[in-house]
Amino acid sequence: MEQVKIGIIGGTGVYRLPGVQDLEKRSVATPYGKVTLNVGTLGGKRVAFLTRHGENHSISPGRINYRANIWAMKMAGVKQLVATACSGSLNPAFPAGSYVMLGQFIEFTKNRAASFYDTDGTNPIKIAHVDVTYPYCNRLGQVVVDAGAALGFKIHTGATYCCCEGPRFETAAEIKMLRLLGGDLVAQTNYPEVVLAREAEICYAAMGIVSNMAAGIADEHVSAVELTSVMKGLFDNVQAILAKTVEMMDERDECWCQTALAESFL
Ligand SMILES: [Zn+2]
Repeated sequence: MEQVKIGIIGGTGVYRLPGVQDLEKRSVATPYGKVTLNVGTLGGKRVAFLTRHGENHSISPGRINYRANIWAMKMAGVKQLVATACSGSLNPAFPAGSYVMLGQFIEFTKNRAASFYDTDGTNPIKIAHVDVTYPYCNRLGQVVVDAGAALGFKIHTGATYCCCEGPRFETAAEIKMLRLLGGDLVAQTNYPEVVLAREAEICYAAMGIVSNMAAGIADEHVSAVELTSVMKGLFDNVQAILAKTVEMMDERDECWCQTALAESFL
């Protein structure tokens, strides 16, 4: 089967990529369930695209089949993966409408299958302790930043992303705590996706898109309706940044991420 080297995962508000041509749906069977990838041509290159929450935003953050999604990308041949992450902001330097590359994460999720190497000893899987000192691929992230710059968009870098369980939004006290811990953005779905990509030895970069200020920072309630409306307004720009990123990516590029498991087994 044709190998597709570039993957894109669209988060909240990014349910389709209008620029993709020759689109075909490819069903991929994984050990974790079936995944439908949209395979097509974007920016002159073949890409595999999937929507994290399903095409109708029908899967809640804790129930997304993260392992199936990343496994399907790996099986398709993906070596470099760019994702979007609609986020609330804890940092006034990143107001609504900002684009911010994720640099670190802190996670507060509760019950998610977060590893391909999670075993109780009764199967032949060996435990892997993968390194996530720097969980996002800086090399690939820089391509996204450069693509934004080429289109006239400032894309900030180095955000610490806090991943909460959801689907409820956070309390003002939780947001205050996350800010004290050094968080910049908050949302509910980048973990364990980022870690699974590292385990799958795929270069992974995620662009945070700020939809609103988080609870207690803005002087109002956090509204999913408002979040949707902001994301709709930004969609054309996000689509353009993704297309330009793919155009500027080199399918042959590789880095440490693609051998991340080499020193992960005891
Ligand atoms: Zn990399």
